[in-house]
Amino acid sequence: MSVRAGALPGVRRDARKLGRHRPVLALDIGGTKLAAGVVDDSGRVHSFLVSPTHAARGLEQGLDRLWELGRQAVEESGVAWSEIEIVGIGAGGPLDRERGVLVCPPHLPGWRDVPLTALAERAYDRPAVLENDATAAAAGEHRHGAGVGTRHMVYLTISTGVGGGVIVDGSLYRGAMGNGGELGHVTVDCHGRPCHGCGRRGCLEAYVSGTSIVERAREALAEAEDASALRAVVELTTADVAAAARDGDALALAVWEETLDALACGLTSIVNLFEPELVVVGGGVSTVGEQLLGPVREPVRASAMRSAGEGARIVQAALGERVGVVGAAAIAHDRVASS
Ligand SMILES: [Zn+2]
Repeated sequence: MSVRAGALPGVRRDARKLGRHRPVLALDIGGTKLAAGVVDDSGRVHSFLVSPTHAARGLEQGLDRLWELGRQAVEESGVAWSEIEIVGIGAGGPLDRERGVLVCPPHLPGWRDVPLTALAERAYDRPAVLENDATAAAAGEHRHGAGVGTRHMVYLTISTGVGGGVIVDGSLYRGAMGNGGELGHVTVDCHGRPCHGCGRRGCLEAYVSGTSIVERAREALAEAEDASALRAVVELTTADVAAAARDGDALALAVWEETLDALACGLTSIVNLFEPELVVVGGGVSTVGEQLLGPVREPVRASAMRSAGEGARIVQAALGERVGVVGAAAIAHDRVASS
């Protein structure tokens, strides 16, 4: 059940009259971490807290910790509860946005058919809205980050998995249930590697996600006996592979170049589909910046259909680890504005 903003008693709606910037509570539910913050409609983050998800400990404990993190975020923000009109929540799909239900997110085992907005409304006694986390992040980057001023923008987040969000003519594209824009599952090789996220083969995610970069580096180490700096690393991470590639390590370079080829291929299809002015790339893997984005710009420009390829700039995201809460807040502000 979703309650529209203003439908609950006791929620003050005078923030605008007082000249404030309408703070909302924003929650971001990821497979490895939960985040909460109070964010206003100018994009200012009044508080920001992160805590591990501990997905294996189950749904009930996870939700209790999430609600508590939200309460702490409000307390630390210095904003009075009476000023907070609505709660915005971003979570990995698949989900049913209108009903506010998490369906079966692969990164949160046990979180099946969770009526998230109804539970949040009970926990905080005010309306709540739910959005796919990558879609919310796209809204955040579009309104307050790297995409400010654009009308046609694509957001790609590359971390444990790969997600996406699309702004078409200034508006979020959501699809029928709120799961549209799954750009990580664009195929770059239909006979390629299995995709952990969707079960098909050869998705962009199966090559450029942090999970895949580490997996392919481990496979290369097991298959070849070449000397590599990565052999000495106990807990291999994407950052280790990227650093070794920068140092000229041949094995790491081969893994990194395959990653770049797949990214250029996937981005070319995405650019052909949407003809965006701007492609914003975020997520943990993208923090290496130009090492990831520099080499893909020219192949995308050269391979894409001419007008699309020449018009699309590819840049790094601007909001960093706060993108989830800034995005969930942008969704909440949209709901208040449309009510
Ligand atoms: Zn897939």
